[in-house]
Amino acid sequence: MSSLARITVFTGSAPGADPSYRAAAEAVGSVLAAEGIGVVYGGGNVGLMGTVATAASDAGGEVIGVIPKVLVDKEIAHHELTRLEVVDDMHQRKMRMAELGDAFVALPGGVGTLEEFFEVWTWLQLGIHAKPIALYDVGGFWDPMLAMLDRIVQEGFISEQFRDALIVVSDPRQLLDELRSWEAPVPKWSQPASSA
Ligand code: AMP
Repeated sequence: MSSLARITVFTGSAPGADPSYRAAAEAVGSVLAAEGIGVVYGGGNVGLMGTVATAASDAGGEVIGVIPKVLVDKEIAHHELTRLEVVDDMHQRKMRMAELGDAFVALPGGVGTLEEFFEVWTWLQLGIHAKPIALYDVGGFWDPMLAMLDRIVQEGFISEQFRDALIVVSDPRQLLDELRSWEAPVPKWSQPASSA
């Protein structure tokens, strides 16, 4: 059982092609705020990332943004946050977002979202953290990537317990239930040498 004071949200700096993405980002932001859970995110006021932050902030929630100096103007730093941390670079941003959150959720997004998601997932495998990670699905957005991950498991490159440790949901309350009941897998290198 994990305690959830703050959740780190990864999602697109673009709004996506369908209005359902924005609706999902609003739902996640407002439910987290209503549940008294803080949002940690990339600090910008663009795309779905801005939507999550604004929805959480409008609902009275804590929102902490972490943005590198170089993106303050490009991603239009959000000024209605509880706190905006301006860091030196992308590496510090990800490190700080990982430290501040008790769990991670990726909503639809682009290559930056994927990079952030895969980094925290690899860190879980290595035992660098033991925090739950969820993919928040909207209209089957993650299905092709999940099929690829299943293929990677079949081919013996990811152990099943790490695939199974990944939470996949499409509803904000289900997200919180699954994050709260999640149990950390045993890190990769503490298993017998024969396993993946
Ligand atoms: P995207 O999904 O590509 O729209 O990007 C979503 C967020 O991820 C944006 O805030 C990007 O600035 C951020 N991002 C992209 N690449 C990286 C990276 N290598 N490290 C940290 N954040 C990144």
